[in-house]
Amino acid sequence: MNKETALVVFSGGQDSTTCLFWAKQMFRQVRALSFRYGQKHQQEVELAASIARRADVAFEAMDISFIGRLGRNSLTDSTLAMDERKPADNYPNTFVPGRNLFFLSIAAVYARERGINHLVTGVSQTDFSGYPDCRDAFIKSLNVTLNLAMDEQFVIHTPLMWIDKAETWALADRLGVFELVRNDTLTCYNGIPGDGCGHCPACKLRREGLEQYEAVKKKRRTA
Ligand code: ZN
Repeated sequence: MNKETALVVFSGGQDSTTCLFWAKQMFRQVRALSFRYGQKHQQEVELAASIARRADVAFEAMDISFIGRLGRNSLTDSTLAMDERKPADNYPNTFVPGRNLFFLSIAAVYARERGINHLVTGVSQTDFSGYPDCRDAFIKSLNVTLNLAMDEQFVIHTPLMWIDKAETWALADRLGVFELVRNDTLTCYNGIPGDGCGHCPACKLRREGLEQYEAVKKKRRTA
């Protein structure tokens, strides 16, 4: 296995873009893999491709749009109104069941074919809608399962697992890509790049983190 190459599961959003540049610092070579999973906003993949190009990273997109048809969710089903906040007794309908399970399993097979054993994903347990497949226990469990499934020694890296959105902005800044992440990534559930629509849950989370980070930076400057 080539220990110097990492494969980043890459959507072109704030989190995975920060991870892409993190990986560029950590590994000699980086590749990016995106998925078409039936998301309403197909330009997500084109945007991801252009960020990868600018980062000088080999990029590929895989079509796994069947996962959007397996279960109903508002990211792939345009007839379903998006939950603006989390219902009390359930996950918001922006939850795509099995998404990270599929993404990482496919990424592992793809990586294995290319002699890569390092996988990078931008999931975070700290600051998310509580999606179960963003939790550390799931990632560790899947890591063991993938190793057993293919008799390999994969290492799944989750640089954002224990940091919040403000710290993710700080990390992008440290990596020298604050402006790129701010202006060119797509996090918004309504498909608007940069600062987005401003009112969907993804935009709210992103903006609150940005405001927190900018407040900290300002305080540091005036101190
Ligand atoms: Zn939005």
